[in-house]
Amino acid sequence: MLQKIFAQGRSSAPQEGTLYKIANVRGQTFELYYGYYDEKERSNPMIEPMPIYPDFLREPQYASDGCAFVTQMQDICQYYIGEGGQMEDRCCADCDYYCHGDELLGVCMCPQRRRTPESQEKQKD
Ligand code: SF4
Repeated sequence: MLQKIFAQGRSSAPQEGTLYKIANVRGQTFELYYGYYDEKERSNPMIEPMPIYPDFLREPQYASDGCAFVTQMQDICQYYIGEGGQMEDRCCADCDYYCHGDELLGVCMCPQRRRTPESQEKQKD
């Protein structure tokens, strides 16, 4: 009986690979699909597929005005401003430079992190 209830509960769980939402931040769209962040999550039967967000630390993306896209849960960078305390527990959502967009997505308003034509030239060098 319990197995049947469990199976019924699981049937409503989102399927890996299905679209969760198309988020829009500053005119840029991000397709968010259900999935897992790693194999450990996938192999745990207690963890259901969840919306997967881009990893902007690994693959930076920028809005048309040069602001870096960030997620709320992204690890803070060297330019973080905000409350102190346990810095390892902080994330971009805690930073004064964070500007919320859609879902858990936003942009970083820090001028140091903004991509400009000059900063792009420096990267080429
Ligand atoms: S919002 Fe920007 S400045 Fe603040 S911690 Fe995140 S990346 Fe760094």
